[in-house]
Amino acid sequence: PSILFGQATDVTHYEVHLQVSDSNNVIHVQELITVQFSGESNQLVLNLDDSDGETGMFVTSVKQDGQSVPYKHKAEQLMIRPSQASKGKQSTFEIFFKGVPKDGLVIGQNKFGDRTFFGDNWPNRAHLWFACVDHPSDKATVRFEVKAPSQYTCVAVGQLEKQESAEGYTTTTYFSQHPLPTKVMVIGLAKLVSEKLEIADGVPVENFVYPQDRQAGFHDMKVAVQPLEFFSNYISAYPFEKLYNVESTTRFGGMENAGCIFYDEGAVKGEGTMENLIAHEIAHQWFGNSASESDWPHIWLSEGFATYFTSLYLEHTYGKKRMQEQLKLDRARVLLFAQKVKTPVLDTISNDLMNLLNPNSYQKGSWILHMLRTKIGDDNFQRGIQTYYLKFAYKNASTADFITCMNEASGQDLTSFFDQWLKRSGHPIFKIEKVKKGKYEMLRILQMQEIPFEFQLEIDMDYPSGKERVFVEGNQRETIVPITIGQKVTTWEVDPDVKLLFELYSQE
Ligand SMILES: [Zn+2]
Repeated sequence: PSILFGQATDVTHYEVHLQVSDSNNVIHVQELITVQFSGESNQLVLNLDDSDGETGMFVTSVKQDGQSVPYKHKAEQLMIRPSQASKGKQSTFEIFFKGVPKDGLVIGQNKFGDRTFFGDNWPNRAHLWFACVDHPSDKATVRFEVKAPSQYTCVAVGQLEKQESAEGYTTTTYFSQHPLPTKVMVIGLAKLVSEKLEIADGVPVENFVYPQDRQAGFHDMKVAVQPLEFFSNYISAYPFEKLYNVESTTRFGGMENAGCIFYDEGAVKGEGTMENLIAHEIAHQWFGNSASESDWPHIWLSEGFATYFTSLYLEHTYGKKRMQEQLKLDRARVLLFAQKVKTPVLDTISNDLMNLLNPNSYQKGSWILHMLRTKIGDDNFQRGIQTYYLKFAYKNASTADFITCMNEASGQDLTSFFDQWLKRSGHPIFKIEKVKKGKYEMLRILQMQEIPFEFQLEIDMDYPSGKERVFVEGNQRETIVPITIGQKVTTWEVDPDVKLLFELYSQE
């Protein structure tokens, strides 16, 4: 539910009937929006781009339960005055509008010069082509009924319900019985060929690619069943009716639209290089699409999770070394980003939502999950993930909700762990050197960043007699690590198993 201008409303269902043609880029829309009023409301505010004469939507009529009602449409808001006292009631608003979408439903040409229509809503561009409460906290079921020239294949979120053709046009209907956030509520229209994959765990999987990419695309997308099976086993049953993987023109590398993932056409090469991307987008079906962040500062609950679950998939499929390689790459990105940007993962300050797609949300979020798993153990971690997911499936969650689940699963109070990693910027920067105290040699670990972190670190000492692993815990500026008496150490390896997000201090 979302609170707008002090009025409590909750959209429960969108019914979007959309018509497109090949003669121009105008879309004609009849939309039915079911709204639950939880408070006394004398105004319903929806997001819908208004017309600037060239692009945007022009509303021709608004009705509430069949009766015309007054409305104002400006500054991307459609303000409707409900006709009757509405507290506790459910109403259906019928809105007619048309126009050329400025964005959101991207009408253009693909890399082969063919005309395509692809929804690309993230983060809040859905309202550029349909009226909605364009925020992840107001989730709703949706039915798309799309009428388009018959040369196009229509894909969308939800279950394919109906397909009828007449006079050169095909009308395709999809229904999502599960409430979705608008950011992943899309349709797509393009010349597409499709291939059904063997059903993974009862989930129908179908891949859609441009006809010219038939071989390359089907080859690259075949791998999709593997992460799907792994995540279903690790987390819980797949949340949606089906899984489509669709070649498209999204501005992102991939966009995790619910059960209808769009992959950028540039990623389709026929070289089998889409596995990580596919795993990431499929992981989002649980994290982001089903259990959705309640608000944008919690976006790491989407991106950090999708990133770490890709690493978990790599570990499961190719072994620990492969996961560690990925984590090292991710760590390098976090360190580089931290040189320029000093915001914490839980970023309540940034206004530009596109800027939230940064290494803090993705790689650092992923690293926090990895350190959490190391801290509480594999079993507790998996149980906590499952509890969190099942509790918030098809709903919204905040970071605090996740922490509560993890505290319960581990039997530990993880508040300070999450505080230092999520609410503080930066990471430990270690200066590690050999020092002599009296006749004893030891390693001294200095934390060079402003505020010391609480950390656990493994170091492999290279003794002439062989390697010896020491476990170090610290939370002070200086931590001393003894060297086994009688041994000489000249080299050591810090964090050999890639368990800590840290940086080695360098003078430059
Ligand atoms: Zn993502």
